[in-house]
Amino acid sequence: MALSRSSVSLGDGAWYNTKQIPAKTYVCGYCGDKVSSNRGYWASSKPDGSGSPIAYIRICPSCKGPTFFTPKGEIYPGTAPGNPVSNLPDELSDLYNEARVSAASGAYTGAVLLCRKMLMNIAVTEGAEEGKRFVEYVEYLADKGYVPPNGKVWVDYIRKRGNEATHEIALMEKEDAIALITFLEMLLRFIYEFPSMVPPETA
Ligand SMILES: [Zn+2]
Repeated sequence: MALSRSSVSLGDGAWYNTKQIPAKTYVCGYCGDKVSSNRGYWASSKPDGSGSPIAYIRICPSCKGPTFFTPKGEIYPGTAPGNPVSNLPDELSDLYNEARVSAASGAYTGAVLLCRKMLMNIAVTEGAEEGKRFVEYVEYLADKGYVPPNGKVWVDYIRKRGNEATHEIALMEKEDAIALITFLEMLLRFIYEFPSMVPPETA
């Protein structure tokens, strides 16, 4: 899936003096293409650059976006979790995209907070009172029938992970961010996308 990152486009430009490095196949976090790249830069294990390669920056052959392959084997930006949802109100669309980009960049706590904000917005739009706790909004949406019967396990999971009793912002892990984005994708599709897909009635 392509993220809206037009600001990273180089236009006709190119990265200067790239080197041939070991080829790697990955999903580019900028354009969403599955690519194989053997062009980029590498970092050495020693300060003078004499050691063996420990990390790489690979340049995407499709969009020229740079991806960092860390010494631990992590990839930044990663692939954005979730899928695009159509027919969203502008604000929810922006929040949803930003949550996905945050998760792809490893900003999991930020992604979770954005997801919580979205859940509150959706619940209030659907009639919930303002000023409630995040978990109460999730339960409100479930009670109103926005979560399918088999989706109750999601509500339980989110309730357990919600843990807002102390109003502290706990650092969130990757799986929390992915779980919330997946849950939100389902909700957004259910509330905004599916109703817009009903075929028009013919007279
Ligand atoms: Zn790309």
